[in-house]
Amino acid sequence: MNTKKIQIKTKTQTEFVDITRNIKEFISASGVKEGICIIYVVHTTAALTINENADPLVKRDILRKLNMIVPWEDGYEHAEGNSAAHIKSSILGFSQSLIIDNHELILGTWQGVYFAEFDGPRTREVFVKIIVG
Ligand code: ZN
Repeated sequence: MNTKKIQIKTKTQTEFVDITRNIKEFISASGVKEGICIIYVVHTTAALTINENADPLVKRDILRKLNMIVPWEDGYEHAEGNSAAHIKSSILGFSQSLIIDNHELILGTWQGVYFAEFDGPRTREVFVKIIVG
């Protein structure tokens, strides 16, 4: 089975959750040697991004700046009241495609895969699909 659903329980309204280990474990268990790993978020107020996982202050800075660019209250018309979360999710995007080479996920030394929560806390789902080739 080359598709997996990862469940993520977020703790706060806005946060990055490092899911790199989940992705690597799935690739390892799949036995796939060469391919593409597609990661997809099935929500409209959460996203995926790849960025530094060495210094935790980097993700704090990214979130702080996103919150400055897209404040929670800004005269939005969407009745649910979470337009900021929809906007930030669209800025970051809902999927990532990564390369699997020789059973390993290719990532730079400082890179990690983050699930980005913008309207938590919630239970979320991320789908991971491996295409062999
Ligand atoms: Zn909404």
